[in-house]
Amino acid sequence: MIAIPTPLRRGAFCALLLLQDMGLGLQRASFWTKVQKTKKCWNWIGAKNNKGYGRFWNGTIVESAHRFSWRIHYTEPIGSKLVLHNCDNPACVRPTHLRLGSQTENMRDALTRDRGHGRSKLKPSDVRVIRQLCADRLASLSVIAAQFGITKGAVGHIKYGVTWSWLP
Ligand SMILES: [Zn+2]
Repeated sequence: MIAIPTPLRRGAFCALLLLQDMGLGLQRASFWTKVQKTKKCWNWIGAKNNKGYGRFWNGTIVESAHRFSWRIHYTEPIGSKLVLHNCDNPACVRPTHLRLGSQTENMRDALTRDRGHGRSKLKPSDVRVIRQLCADRLASLSVIAAQFGITKGAVGHIKYGVTWSWLP
């Protein structure tokens, strides 16, 4: 076996790190070409899965776009946790709208947000009507809730922008 002198070994190691860095740089660059920033959410306009989550080729595997966003913005490792949305917009990759949570939390979120099978009961047009009704004080929260078959709390969330904030 040929012994490689230490300085050379160091050089090779550095080159490898540099290549890795360049790789991540390229991935980041291609990531940002698929993001459309709005005042609220930063929406993924690239490929999506059937639940509306962005799909991104990170150079090794296809990863969720919001998950990749977490990795490039935060040092806290994801580990066995999930990257969850505070804004309930699966296509959003804005780091401040993301948080780490467990699968249990994810399911609890889904329940509070009145989602069944990962899909909202409401259509964007419903949400706009609800906002209008709230803004014009045309009906009480409970009347609106009954009208749309959702909870009073869910109407409140729409009213105060806790949910659907990404919808213009
Ligand atoms: Zn968002």
